Amino acid sequence: MINVSNLLKIGIHDPAQLVYRLEGKFKPDLLFKRYGKLAQKQGFDRLYVILSFDCDSPEDIPAAKIIHSYLKKNGLKGTFAVPGHLLKEGAEVYRSLSDGGADFINHGALPHVEKRGGRYWSTTFYNDMPVGEVIRDIKEGHKIYNSVIGHPPIGFRAPHFGTIQNPLLIKSIYNVLQELKYLYSSSTMPISGFRFGPVQTINGLYEISLSGSYFEPLEILDSWNNIISPYNPIVKNEYAFQFIQTIEHLMKLNVSGVLNYYVDPAHVVSSRSFYEAIDFLIQQEIPTLYYDDAIKLREGS
Ligand SMILES: [Zn+2]
Repeated sequence: MINVSNLLKIGIHDPAQLVYRLEGKFKPDLLFKRYGKLAQKQGFDRLYVILSFDCDSPEDIPAAKIIHSYLKKNGLKGTFAVPGHLLKEGAEVYRSLSDGGADFINHGALPHVEKRGGRYWSTTFYNDMPVGEVIRDIKEGHKIYNSVIGHPPIGFRAPHFGTIQNPLLIKSIYNVLQELKYLYSSSTMPISGFRFGPVQTINGLYEISLSGSYFEPLEILDSWNNIISPYNPIVKNEYAFQFIQTIEHLMKLNVSGVLNYYVDPAHVVSSRSFYEAIDFLIQQEIPTLYYDDAIKLREGS
């Protein structure tokens, strides 16, 4: 369902975005083909997938362990983003995942969810916090990562993507990441990928946008938006359908690029849908990347 007044507001504020949104609704082939050309210019000669896992709840600790071993058994790469307070709580598990080859990124220190009335609610929105507190959270996340994982992080993901809209705040975040010698961030909405290609450079850092589906190219395809209900947060079969159909469409169109998808381990670990999606990657021999692999491919171009 298209909200016309929303589209008008977008069009006045940012005409290019309106074009992307209309194409996303009515001409996704056009949108993805243009993206594919940008990706080819950046050195991507085929379709790749990045799988990342936001571990925002304590239930993600055992779930991350199961998922990591499934990925590893099948030769796939996975990147984990864990808020610092949970990285400490699950230190033993997360350290063993890192020792077993999993990649990690700084995801701040404060909790991203809180449980109330039998379900989780999102918390810690950088957009609502004073800049100083945001910087403190990034630095605290960096410190905890270093002490748990044993080396400093080179990648960052902001909590609740898309909720940071204040340009000054975004600039301050990139500045602190630069100061801490980060290589990349993966915190932006799919539209940046359609505009600038899969791996962008912002303020001396690489930024790798999250991806949407063929059906809703501008919305992040994640687990939270595909769960049965907040009281039963397990992904529906619809998730695998969107994931697989997107890749099938892009392969048919011969589109190069990087599909950058994340899920929360606890939402998918006991689902059939997630494993169907992963098994499809294995059958189709679609290579999975770590974020720095994607950057190397771009640097090699
Ligand atoms: Zn999070």
